[in-house]
Amino acid sequence: MQKENIEKEIEALRQKIRENDDLYYVLNKPAISDQEYDRLYRKLKEFEDAHPELITPDSPTQRVGESPAEGFAVVKHIVPMMSMENTYSAEELKEFDERVRKNLKKEEYEYVVELKFDGVSISLLYEKGRWVRGATRGDGAEGDDVSNNLKTIRSIPLKFNENVKKVPSRVELRGEVYMTKDVFESINCEKEKAGEEPFANPRNAAAGSLKLLDPRIVAKRRLNIFIWGLGYCEGIDFGRHTDLLEYLKEAGFRVNPHFKLCKEIKDVIDFCNSWKTKREKLDFEIDGMVVKVNDLGQRERLGSTSKSPRWAIAYKFPAQKALTEVKDIIVQVGRTGTITPVAILKPVHLSGSTVSRATLHNFDEIERLDVRIGDKVYVEKSGEIIPKVLSVAKDKRTGKEKSFPLPKVCPACASRLHSAPDEVALRCENAGCPAQIKEKILHFASRDAMDIEGMGIAITDQLVDRGLIKDYADIYYLKMGDIERLDRYAEKSAANLLNAIEKSKSSDLNRLIYALGIRHVGEHSAWVIAEHFGSISKLSGAGIDELTRIREIGPVMAESINNFFSNKENLNILRRLSETNIKMSRSGIGAKKGGVLEGKTVVVTGTLKNYSRSRAEELVRSLGGNPSSSVSKNTYFVLAGEEPGSKIDKAKALGVKIIDEEEFKKIIKL
Ligand SMILES: [Zn+2]
Repeated sequence: MQKENIEKEIEALRQKIRENDDLYYVLNKPAISDQEYDRLYRKLKEFEDAHPELITPDSPTQRVGESPAEGFAVVKHIVPMMSMENTYSAEELKEFDERVRKNLKKEEYEYVVELKFDGVSISLLYEKGRWVRGATRGDGAEGDDVSNNLKTIRSIPLKFNENVKKVPSRVELRGEVYMTKDVFESINCEKEKAGEEPFANPRNAAAGSLKLLDPRIVAKRRLNIFIWGLGYCEGIDFGRHTDLLEYLKEAGFRVNPHFKLCKEIKDVIDFCNSWKTKREKLDFEIDGMVVKVNDLGQRERLGSTSKSPRWAIAYKFPAQKALTEVKDIIVQVGRTGTITPVAILKPVHLSGSTVSRATLHNFDEIERLDVRIGDKVYVEKSGEIIPKVLSVAKDKRTGKEKSFPLPKVCPACASRLHSAPDEVALRCENAGCPAQIKEKILHFASRDAMDIEGMGIAITDQLVDRGLIKDYADIYYLKMGDIERLDRYAEKSAANLLNAIEKSKSSDLNRLIYALGIRHVGEHSAWVIAEHFGSISKLSGAGIDELTRIREIGPVMAESINNFFSNKENLNILRRLSETNIKMSRSGIGAKKGGVLEGKTVVVTGTLKNYSRSRAEELVRSLGGNPSSSVSKNTYFVLAGEEPGSKIDKAKALGVKIIDEEEFKKIIKL
């Protein structure tokens, strides 16, 4: 490979890893499986190992994890929390053993093999046997002080058991907070009943719970913990890891009993393999095993690389698979007309949840796998992502299986499907396709777009099916009589919906641009575009050249925007929108120029009662202000909600004005 190609490849990998870090750590919404992530990471590592001159300080390989979340004080771990190197095969375990043997010269050594809990790593500090604080791993060096949340976990002792002979004067313990499978299911059940999005898996549920600002809610999440190690210790010398575990148990800590001492690597491998199936009987999830050198003196001699210790390694299990039957294959039509095939499965239990459908991605995938209706298939769910069909058990075929023909027409509108030359996906290009219309309307009305409360799936289905709306402009032409006639709609709820529709007319321009559903234009791009053009009419008149001159708009997005505004039908919809007096520019109410906060920097922190943080920031922008995430001496004021965290201290130290929600309301009404 050419040097510049390698450079490009490295940057692309970094970007992909960063995006997923963000989804995983900040939003708790992973988009790819851990294995895929590790594969990306290892590929990047290989490239960088081969070309050390291309390593930059901001490469994901150069840091250990997430950055602290907002709302908690940041604490420094006495000893950084390192991450462990992952392996996936017996071969790699043998290689690890070779390295240990070589480095320890001819010394005897033994391993302790433990379960690898699929939870959240934390660090607990005790002084003279008394609890001081607990923190998340964070970036390894610094984490969030989540003491109040950790203290809700009853299995964490607030002081050491009195019958231990000796207590360390200062000790930093390492453990893993987790949620049992049962608690996970019951919490998700409640969430679904309340119409909230369920957690993807027990690990995300535990991580999400630890980041809650209200410990009372955390307590209801019934988290639990296993202590598995030591970061720092003053006052007691432990000879071996197993001595430490024994001591911790006596001192009142929860230590997992399923560990084994092994002298030979082949015993290590056997023990690891035995847990591949045994793990299903545990009431919590593990995603592998951890192999550690038992002798702490030897650990010191082995030392560590900049990222991970040389005396330990993680062995990760392959993703869980299950065999089930394909009852049917259906196709779904997305907002932009993309057709996606989905396998309807005989429900099967997998990774702690019941799976009844799996994505087939596209029709090439159906062909590649040769999936037929009636086939027995292996499905994989690597924790959090949507389950997918891995392979077909062809030896189980009876001859009655039916192959699924490539659809020629859209299931919703029967128009011919097309595939673009550079895309595998089939699409329905009929602008009047009811399935697309429904998706577009749901997007238009969604929380992050025009935020029309009450405009959900059930009502959208009815409105479109009855021909009452054909596009999102029609929403603003609905009359009381139209809605009242729908199933399960009474006068009151119809009035509520009309009110919500009316209210949405004054949504900010960036929301409207996002709501239009232009391909490739996400929330952030919509904001950039709104800032640049200031009105729909200016935007619609912009050519590709002008669009690509904006730093954050690439050629693909520019072309997509241009196509959208060249389409007669779209222009017609926009004209009808403007005739309803919907806000189509930044001028008018909440104009940026001359707003009361013009040119001022404002920081929003903590939990607010009446607004989400992003909504409050939007209000600041609408008044001409610039929301910022860090406090400096130039900050005009800090709007603080509940549990505001360290930003308040900084504001106080700098003498920056701190206001509450009531004062903020007064300001925005001015
Ligand atoms: Zn269609």
